[in-house]
Amino acid sequence: MTGERILVVDDDKLNLTLISDILKVEGYEVYPFFNGSSILEKTYLIKPSAILLDIILPDIDGFEICKMLKEDIYTKDIPIIMITGRTHSSDVKKALELGAFDYIKKPIDEVEVAARVKSVLRYNEYQEKLKAMAIKDGLTGLYNHTFLIEILEKEIKKHEKKVSSISFAMIDIDYFKKVNDAYGHLFGDKVLKGLSDMLLKSVPNSDIVGRYGGEEFGIIFTHESKGNLEKLCETLRKNVQDAEFETDGTKVKITISIGACFRENTKGLKSDEIIRKADEALYKAKSSGRNKIEIV
Ligand code: GH3
Ligand code: MG
Ligand code: MG
Repeated sequence: MTGERILVVDDDKLNLTLISDILKVEGYEVYPFFNGSSILEKTYLIKPSAILLDIILPDIDGFEICKMLKEDIYTKDIPIIMITGRTHSSDVKKALELGAFDYIKKPIDEVEVAARVKSVLRYNEYQEKLKAMAIKDGLTGLYNHTFLIEILEKEIKKHEKKVSSISFAMIDIDYFKKVNDAYGHLFGDKVLKGLSDMLLKSVPNSDIVGRYGGEEFGIIFTHESKGNLEKLCETLRKNVQDAEFETDGTKVKITISIGACFRENTKGLKSDEIIRKADEALYKAKSSGRNKIEIV
């Protein structure tokens, strides 16, 4: 893969140029530095896919930098390849123990550098896929239950420091069992996917849509006024009511019920509480006839 950013730190200028040239030929964007000053800040800015890091640097030890990068929440997942001039295997051991992904021994070999960087990027790609699998729901592509709650908790904490609102909406398809019974489970799946896409399109980009479970969805709204939240939920309800899902030439219509909990002040708020309130509101929307919204 080309165009990926690689950060290289080596005090030996000849070596630094050599590595940079090898990587540029491979099509990477290279960011060379000959000392370790402000590497953490530089890493924040550059957001490299991998870092090649010399162990011996004039200002700060490469091991120290490795440790610092691995301890920082924003940089800990960036793989580091240590460049070692030392032949002691204890150095290699130390680098790997500190969390380095791999190492390259000096004098460097052109083919080896290119191959090791390629291997680390392949690992990144695999990690990204795993991460996506861990947080997304397979059928709908929305965030899964666990991740939705995790984000809700993070958002509540974030909003404690500011005066802005947070709301959680619980959405449930009305009489969905009947859809499955009449048209089959596979068609039901298609409806779930179609509805998910509609939900994503209908909410502001900054809001989070997840599959809460089965035929239930959760949306985390931030910065909305109560009036706006009501408008958004009403638009959602109306859009779903007007949509048609097709199976073998038959047009199937569904409706949803929405229960939402709006909170202006999130201090001391627990995710359980906001979800429970939204769930109670949903129950009310259901018992008052379905295809309704209820905001508390
Ligand atoms: P209500 O209006 O009270 O919500 O009625 P309902 O039929 O939607 O509710 P109920 O909880 O009785 O049934 C939910 C149905 O959702 C039953 C279940 O088979 C279906 N369902 C849950 N997950 C999936 C899924 O992944 N795919 C399909 N096709 N159906 C699902
Ligand atoms: Mg349900
Ligand atoms: Mg239902």
